[in-house]
Amino acid sequence: MATTHLKNYIDGRWVDSSSGDAFEDTDPANGDIIATATKSTTADVDKAVESARRAYDSWRLFPAPKRGEILYRAGAIMLDRKDDLAREMTLEMGKVLAESKGDVQEGIDMTYYIAGEGRRQFGDVVPAELPSKWAMSMRNPHGVIAAITPWNFPFAIPTWKIMPALILGNTVVFKPASYTPMLAVRLVEILEEAGLPKGVLNLVLGPGGALGDHLVQHPSVDLISFTGSSDTGAHISEIAGRLLKRVSAELGGKNAIVVLDDADVDLALDGIVWSAFGTSGQRCTAASRVIAHHGVANDLIDKLVGRAKKLRLGHGLESTTDVGPVVSKAAQDKVASYMPIAEKEGATIAAGGRVPTEGALAKGFFHEPTVLVDVKPNMRVAQEEIFGPVTSVIEVKSVDEAVKVLNNTKYGLSSSVYTRNINSAFRFMRDAETGIVYVNAGTIGAEIQLPFGGMKSTGNGHREAGRAALDVYSEWKSIYVDYSGKLQRAQMDADGGKAP
Ligand code: NDP
Repeated sequence: MATTHLKNYIDGRWVDSSSGDAFEDTDPANGDIIATATKSTTADVDKAVESARRAYDSWRLFPAPKRGEILYRAGAIMLDRKDDLAREMTLEMGKVLAESKGDVQEGIDMTYYIAGEGRRQFGDVVPAELPSKWAMSMRNPHGVIAAITPWNFPFAIPTWKIMPALILGNTVVFKPASYTPMLAVRLVEILEEAGLPKGVLNLVLGPGGALGDHLVQHPSVDLISFTGSSDTGAHISEIAGRLLKRVSAELGGKNAIVVLDDADVDLALDGIVWSAFGTSGQRCTAASRVIAHHGVANDLIDKLVGRAKKLRLGHGLESTTDVGPVVSKAAQDKVASYMPIAEKEGATIAAGGRVPTEGALAKGFFHEPTVLVDVKPNMRVAQEEIFGPVTSVIEVKSVDEAVKVLNNTKYGLSSSVYTRNINSAFRFMRDAETGIVYVNAGTIGAEIQLPFGGMKSTGNGHREAGRAALDVYSEWKSIYVDYSGKLQRAQMDADGGKAP
C-alpha cells in the first residue's frame, strides 16, 4: 500500500497538479507500490516555468559565492541522508544498495565540486591591442533551464544539471523520469532545506511524452538539458532547433571493452562482469560489447560464462544479490526480445538468456545475466543499445581490427582496453572514437571532475561534469572598456603602431 504521496514543487510550495490525477511509483523487484505521484499537466508546466522566470533576476544578481554556500549546505544534508536516499533509490528503480549509495555519493561529489565554482567561474582578462583599453570575458547565465533526466541515475544525473545551472545564476524547471519521482522529490527537498529561494528550482512530475513538447517549446525556457534515449533526444533537438534554442543532449551508448592478447585476463574479467552487469546493464556506459583478441578469446569466454552463471538475481536491498531487476516490464520485454534476434542472426547464447518465471523473481522484472558469443560486428545485438544485462563477445585478430570494430557503431560514449603493452594502450587512447576511454579498467566509473559525454550520436557535442559543465549552463560575454577618451578603431588605429 502506498505510504507516500509525491507532489510538484512550484514557486516554493509543494502542490498537487491541476488535474488532481496521480501515477504509481513501483518497486521493479516485486511490483509493490511504494508511492503515488501527482500527474502534471501542461498548465502545471506553465506555472513552473513562470515561477522560474520570475525568480531569475534576483537569483542571477545574488552573489555566486553565496549561491555556493547553499550548495555546500545541500551537500552536507545529502551526506547525512545518504543511507536513506540509497534505500529509497533501490526500492524505486532496482539497482543493488551499494550501487545506489554510489549514485548518491556522486551527487554529493558533484554538489561540493560545483559549490566551489561559486568562487571561481574564471573568465579571461587579456591585453587590448589599443592603448587605454580593457578587454575581458565573463560567463553569463542563460535564464531558465529545463532539466529532463532519466531513471538510471535518479540522484546523480539531476545534480549534474541542476548544480551547475544554479551556480551560474540560472533558474530551473526539473522534469525527472516517471519511474523515479521519489528521488527527484528528495533532491528538491534537500535544496529547499539548504535555503534555496522560492522559484529558483521547480519540480514537475509526470509523463515526458505529454509534458515534454510543451516544456521544450515554452518561450520562457532558454536551454534544455536532456539525458535519455536517442529517440527522445532527437525529438527534442528537432523542436528546439526550429526555435533556435540551446540543447545539451546526452544519449545512448554501445560501449566496448577490448581485451588484447597480452592482457591480464582475470583483471579484464572483473572489469567486464562489473561493467556489463552492474546496474543490470542499465548504464549509458555499460559494456554491451566485449572485443576479444583470438589469442585470449576462448579462455575469456569460458571464464566469463562461468562468472555470469554464478551471478545471483534478487531484490537490490538483499545483501546476497549481485544483479537487480531492470526498471520495468517494457524494459524486460525489450531485453528478452533481443534473444531470438541474436540467435536468428547466428549468435549463440552461452550464458543466461531467460526471464525467470518461478518464485519471487517472477514477480519482478528480472532477466538473467546473458553472454552472447559468435557475434559479428554488424549484428543488431552488436549495434543497438539493449540497456539490460546482456553483453556480446566479438572476436578479432589484431589491434587494428579491434579499434575498427570498436568504432563501428553510431555511438561514442565509453571504451576500454586491457593490455600490458604501452604502445597499444596509447594507440587505443588516440584512436578510440569515444568521449571516455579507460585503460585496464571497465567502461564504467567516471569521476565528476572530468568532462562526461560522448562523441558521434551519443550527444550533440556538449559535456556534463568537470569544468566543461560550466560551458553548457553559461554563455560568454566579451567586454571592452575604452578609457582613452577618444575614438580608437580596432584593427585600424593599432595597425603598424609605433613603439613608445
Ligand atoms: P527516455 O528518453 O525515455 O526518457 C528520459 C527523460 O525524457 C524522462 O524524464 C522522460 O520522461 C523524458 N521524456 C520522454 N519523452 C519526452 C518528450 N517527448 N519530451 C521531453 N521529455 C521526454 O530515456 P530513459 O528514461 O528510458 O533512459 C534510458 C536512456 O537514457 C538510455 O538510452 C541511456 O543510454 C540513456 N542515458 C544516457 C546517459 C548519458 O549520459 N549519455 C546517462 C543515462 C541514460 P518519462 O520518464 O516521463 O517518460
